[in-house]
Amino acid sequence: MSKRILLTSLAITLFILLFFAFTSNEVYYAQLEGDLTSDLVKQIEMLDQLELNDSTAADDIADSLKGADVTIYDLNGTVTDSTFPDIIGSTDDSSDIKSALSATDNFLYTAPSSNDGRIYLHICRRYDDILVRLTGELVSRSRMFLTVMPTLVVFILIDVLLCLLFTWMSTYFVLKPVKELAINAIGNDKQVKTKYSELKPIADVINWKNEYVRAAQQSKDEFISNVTHEMNTPLTSIRGFAELIASGNMPNDKMISAGKTIKTQSDRLSAMIKQILNYSAIDDDTVTPYDVNISKLIEEALNNYTPMLKDKNLSILKYIDDDVIIKSTQERITEIVDNLVSNAIKYNKQNGKIIVTLRGNVLTVEDTGIGISNNELTHIFSRFYTVDKSHGESVGFGLGLPIVKKICDRSGWTLNVDSVQGEGTTFKIVFEMKKKN
Ligand code: ADP
Repeated sequence: MSKRILLTSLAITLFILLFFAFTSNEVYYAQLEGDLTSDLVKQIEMLDQLELNDSTAADDIADSLKGADVTIYDLNGTVTDSTFPDIIGSTDDSSDIKSALSATDNFLYTAPSSNDGRIYLHICRRYDDILVRLTGELVSRSRMFLTVMPTLVVFILIDVLLCLLFTWMSTYFVLKPVKELAINAIGNDKQVKTKYSELKPIADVINWKNEYVRAAQQSKDEFISNVTHEMNTPLTSIRGFAELIASGNMPNDKMISAGKTIKTQSDRLSAMIKQILNYSAIDDDTVTPYDVNISKLIEEALNNYTPMLKDKNLSILKYIDDDVIIKSTQERITEIVDNLVSNAIKYNKQNGKIIVTLRGNVLTVEDTGIGISNNELTHIFSRFYTVDKSHGESVGFGLGLPIVKKICDRSGWTLNVDSVQGEGTTFKIVFEMKKKN
């Protein structure tokens, strides 16, 4: 993080520094050029006060103008005199001089010329038989830039130092409260707090996460304690009978009933283990949901219950739409139907009814059984909650409805229950319909 801050701040500040250096160089150069041009214009206007003829010397003109270099040409472009002695006698056939000689108004400013890395500005005035050119020297851009280079290097070094300091300070001041927050977050049962409003979203996430972990741990602990408690009852019974048989003290006539109890309790134990495994397996569901024809599946599942209806002389009424397709898996739909219908059978009355309806994406399982009180309704989806337990007689483990709820929650389906004690109960699931193309 600090490397990225350093590189970014260096890139930005160096860009600004160099941009500023180049721009100010250009502005300063333009200012110098403007000043020199207006100087030359003023000086050439002063020529009018001098009486010039072909015998006037360039040095004399230069002296009276105080500074500028002077070159005098005849009307053929030959240098007759100049403060640059080397060019006396040479003919200048440059386009500037040609156009200055042929100019109708006898005053012409020519473009700067560059020679040996130097820059000269020229201005000309034509008289009857001579052309006078004034020249001023301007420092070149590159020379100007070289002059400011040492200062620029010093600024760059200062910039690097400032960027390092800025990076250290920003990471220190930003990371310090974050580190404190992280330290507080570990193994802290209390809510973490921060005085910095910018870090509040992080504190909120930590608190939410901690709360989630705490709740998950508590739920796991409760689950383990419930499982061990539920297993203990059949195991104690099995062990008790097994010890009696092993001691040889069990009368022969009690042997068969003891065997039956051991078998019943072992079945109960393995049924419970199966349901616990089912309950946990929902979390690890890796099968991608596919199109399931729940109409067919429900019909098939209901047929399996025919033998179980006899004891209480129950009847099942079915109102099932054809070919309702839901994105799920066969296992999960079967689990839902099995749990709801087996409860409707278990908690029904003599000669009662079970009405299973599938209308579009809505499944209802209704019974005319013992019903559930309002107080109990709030608990029936909690793991290991069984209403019968409070009456001292246990027929289930309290995992059937939690399994149904978990499947519905994970699939995004709504699950509702409606019950009147002594009259019956209705469970309703609204499945998400498969989208048609
Ligand atoms: P169990 O294995 O005890 O049936 P469930 O999780 O399926 O566990 O149900 C939890 C409790 O809800 C049951 O103990 C029962 O008292 C009550 N219950 C569930 N379905 C019905 C129903 N159709 N009618 C009356 N009570 C029901």
